[in-house]
Amino acid sequence: MRVAIVGAGVVGASVAYHLAARGIHDVVVLDRADEPGGGSTPRATGGFRVQFETAINIALSLLAREKLLRFEEELGVDSGYRPHGYLFLARSEAAMDALRIANALQHANGASEPQLIDADEARRINPAIEDDAIAGGAYGPRDGFIRAMQILGGYTDAAKRFGVHFDYGVEAVRWRVDGDRVIAIETRYGAIEADVFVNAAGAWASTLGIDNPVRPLRRQVACTIETDALPETMPMTIWLDDGFHLRVRDRRILLLRPDEPRTTDPFDDNLDDTWIADVVERARARVPIAASVAIDRDKCWAGLYEMSPDRHALLGRAPGFANLYLANGSSGHGVMHAPALGQLLAQLIAGEEPSIDIHPLRPSRFAEGEPIAGPELL
Ligand SMILES: Cc1cc2nc3c(=O)[nH]c(=O)nc-3n(C[C@H](O)[C@H](O)[C@H](O)COP(=O)(O)OP(=O)(O)OC[C@H]3O[C@@H](n4cnc5c(N)ncnc54)[C@H](O)[C@@H]3O)c2cc1C
Repeated sequence: MRVAIVGAGVVGASVAYHLAARGIHDVVVLDRADEPGGGSTPRATGGFRVQFETAINIALSLLAREKLLRFEEELGVDSGYRPHGYLFLARSEAAMDALRIANALQHANGASEPQLIDADEARRINPAIEDDAIAGGAYGPRDGFIRAMQILGGYTDAAKRFGVHFDYGVEAVRWRVDGDRVIAIETRYGAIEADVFVNAAGAWASTLGIDNPVRPLRRQVACTIETDALPETMPMTIWLDDGFHLRVRDRRILLLRPDEPRTTDPFDDNLDDTWIADVVERARARVPIAASVAIDRDKCWAGLYEMSPDRHALLGRAPGFANLYLANGSSGHGVMHAPALGQLLAQLIAGEEPSIDIHPLRPSRFAEGEPIAGPELL
């Protein structure tokens, strides 16, 4: 079986590796970038959590965590997984209720370690917090951080060792279709034929000529100069009410808050002053020590989330096609879930039973009127 994958980001590389590891070695992965990391993967901040609010995302995280723990043994590369924790904070009863519901769901679905906590416990876990408005929170001690490019590199190099071919600098233009089959992917350098095709084109998944509901959404990261003001071991700390969050990576404090993008250029790293001033102001009111460190404008960056209509991945056969598979739409969680998504899709393509039930992620769910329902934590 010959498989052609469009997109050599962390998801495409994981699919390629997991196919090859099951004996499907005739795999080609195309990417228009000249080298690995031309899309969203290197722009992720590197958070990992099982503290999700739907059963399927909790299941993906648990499988991914299992695989991250074995990553070095399996692939010879450190995935960077460090369980420094995720600390969700609630200022309102509504946010606390959302955390309670999510926490009960996590426990019911096999994630037993996240705990609901009171405000004092939150301040004990992260002593840098100075926010009297906190009503309580939730803490996942095994959540934490991963290294996106190390995971991408681990899967890419291991896939290559199995004989997978990565073709960089090749832009796919459109699927060539005959009835219910894709027969080739047309590129600027000619068409590539295969038996099975995979769309792993991240935020650009909808640009290849067959309906795909995934759309790009710009996200920005403000980054300080190097500092020892806060430790790398500080948990990812998130105010649920407005989405403001921060972490420390490579001695720099990263400040984030999802809001409406003010520019449409996906990779314009020149963030606007108003947005930066806004996140710094939020930091000043809650973690003053973080706001006391200067922002390093040259190190701030932006990137794209690959949003699906219900903020969950599309994994499985594209509606109406016998041999086109989608690995799209993780909606900002693609790095942490890539180890699971790659394994599950490879199992499906190889005719094996996937390790977890991926029916909820089937791409046809939107046409069937069954999107995944659930509130959103972040
Ligand atoms: C600011 C920010 C913070 C984030 N933080 C996190 C986080 O903490 N944890 C987490 O899990 N995720 C995070 N994410 C999300 C994460 O980056 C994505 O979910 C993930 O990288 C998706 O991987 P991918 O392989 O699907 O996409 P990509 O890495 O974008 O790979 C897609 C590839 O397809 C290629 N491509 C596209 N179109 C074509 C074409 N026509 N022809 C050939 N090649 C093509 C691109 O060049 C690209 O290399 C964050 C994202 C951003 C922007």
